[in-house]
Amino acid sequence: MAGSQNGSSEGFKIPQIKYTKLFINGEFVDAASGKVFQTRDPRTGDVIANIAEGDKEDVDLAVKAAREAFDHGPWPRMSGYARGRILYKFADLIEQHIEELAALDGVDAGKLFEFGKEVDIPTAVRMLRYYASAADKIHGETLKLNGEYQGYTLKEPIGVVGAIIPWNFPSLIFFLKVSPALAAGCTVVVKPAEQTPLSALFYASLAKEAGIPDGVLNVITGFGLMAGAALASHMDVDDITFTGSPEVGRKIMAASASSNLKTVSLELGGKSPVIIFDDADVDMAVDLARAAIFFNKGEVCIAGSRVYVQEGIYDEFVKKSIEAAKSWVVGDPFDPVVNMGPQIDKVQFERVLKYIEYGKNEGATLLTGGKPCGDKGYYIEPTIFANVKEDMKIAQDEIFGPVMSLMKFKTIEEAIERANSTKYGLAAGIVTKDLNIANRVSRSIRAGTIWINCYFAVDPDAPFGGYKMSGFGRDQGMNALEKYLQVKSVITPIYNSPW
Ligand code: NAD
Repeated sequence: MAGSQNGSSEGFKIPQIKYTKLFINGEFVDAASGKVFQTRDPRTGDVIANIAEGDKEDVDLAVKAAREAFDHGPWPRMSGYARGRILYKFADLIEQHIEELAALDGVDAGKLFEFGKEVDIPTAVRMLRYYASAADKIHGETLKLNGEYQGYTLKEPIGVVGAIIPWNFPSLIFFLKVSPALAAGCTVVVKPAEQTPLSALFYASLAKEAGIPDGVLNVITGFGLMAGAALASHMDVDDITFTGSPEVGRKIMAASASSNLKTVSLELGGKSPVIIFDDADVDMAVDLARAAIFFNKGEVCIAGSRVYVQEGIYDEFVKKSIEAAKSWVVGDPFDPVVNMGPQIDKVQFERVLKYIEYGKNEGATLLTGGKPCGDKGYYIEPTIFANVKEDMKIAQDEIFGPVMSLMKFKTIEEAIERANSTKYGLAAGIVTKDLNIANRVSRSIRAGTIWINCYFAVDPDAPFGGYKMSGFGRDQGMNALEKYLQVKSVITPIYNSPW
C-alpha cells in the first residue's frame, strides 16, 4: 500500500545482540554504576536490549586508557603504513559482517536494511580505507626562514579525541570521525547516541579483532547529559569532534571553554534548499526533490527540506510531487519494497507531528500526508506543504522528518536570497541545464556542499561541513585529517648556533 505502513519483516531474523557493554581498554565491561538503559525498536517501540549506561566514572576510565595508549602505546608511534594496514583489516572485517551490521542499524534506527547493506555501511568502509591509505602520507613542509635559520613542520596526532555522534547514521558518522582520527595516530573515545548503541559496540569488537591496540578505540554508551557532557568537559581529552544538534553543539563549546580549551569541531543541523529552475526536466526534478527530503525518513542533516520551484514549472511540479510522495512506500525497513521506515523514537515522532501542526496553523497548504501511519511504531506519511512563507517555522526550523516545504520563485536573485535566508548553511541542491545559472547560484549559496543536478552524492574525498550555524570544521577529505593533527615548527641554525 503506497504512502502508508505496509511491509513486514516476518521471516527476517533479527541478529542476536552480542555486545551490550562499554568497550574500555580492549574489554567489554559493565558500567561502574551497574546501570543499564534500554534501546528500542522504532518499528514497534519494543525493547531490543539493555545497554550499559556509562557516566562520568566510565568516561574517566576510557579517557585514562586512551591517554595511556596515546602517551605510551604503540599506535601514535608506529609507522603510518603499519597503522594503515590495521585499518584496512578493520575495513575487511566490517565487510565480512555487513549483513549483521546493517540489520543492527535497521532494528536500532529504523534504517532500510538493503540501503545499509548496499550503500551506507559500504560508504563507511570506504571512509576507513580512504584514511587508511592516507596514514603514511602525513607530512609537513620545509621552511626556508629568514637569516641564519632553517626549519620544518611536523604534523603530529592531536592526542585523545572524543567523538560524540547522533543516531541518524550510526555507522557512517562513526567512521567519519574515527577513520581520520585513527589514521592520524590519535586515540579515541566514542559516545554513540543513546538511541543507537548497537553497531558502535560491534565496531569496537571488530577493531580489536583487526589488531587495533587496547585503549586506542573505546566506546562509552550512555546519555548525552552524563557520558557526553563528561567527555566534552574532560581535562585529558584534547579534541572533541561532534555531530548533532546546534543546541548541544553550543554546550560542547562551552564545556571546552570552561575546561581545558580542547579543540572542537561541530557538524550541526541544516535546512537545505533545493532550487529548481524552469529549464529543468520536471520528472527528474520531482524524483530528486522527493529523495532529498524523504530519504532516511527526513532524518538527514542535509535533507532538502525547502524546495524552491520557478514559476514556469511550479504547477506541474506540484501535481507530480503529490503523486511521487504517495508512491513512496512507508513500512518495515527490512522489507525490500519499502522506501521509508519509522522515525527514530517517540520523541522525534511527536516532534515531527508538532511541526506538521505548526505548518497547518501558520497557513501553509497541506498537499499530501500529514498523519502517522500504521497501528504501531513511529511511522509518518511523506508530507508536503505548499504556499510556505519564509517566516513560517516549517521554513526555518530543522524538522528532521519527512516534511517538504514547497515555495514558488520568479528570478535567480530571489531564489538566491531566499535560499540563504535561514541560520543554517549545510548543503543545497540546484536543478538546471543552464551552466551559467548553476555556476552563479552555487557560488552565491552560503553552504558547505552544493549539488548540481544530483543530491546526497557523498564521497570520502569531498569535504563535508557547515557554514553559519551548521557548524565549523570539515569531515571527509584530507581536511578532516588535519583536524586530528597538530603542526609543530622545528627550527635550527644553518651554520653555528648563536649560543
Ligand atoms: P543531539 O545533539 O541531541 O545528540 C547528538 C549526540 O550528543 C548524542 O550522542 C547525544 O547523546 C549527545 N549529547 C546530548 N546532550 C549532550 C551534552 N549536554 N553534552 C555532550 N553530549 C551530548 O542530536 P541528535 O538528536 O542525536 O541528532 C540530530 C541532530 O544532529 C540534528 O540537528 C541533525 O541535523 C544533526 N546532524 C548533523 C549532521 C552533520 O553532519 N552536520 C549529521 C547528522 C545529524
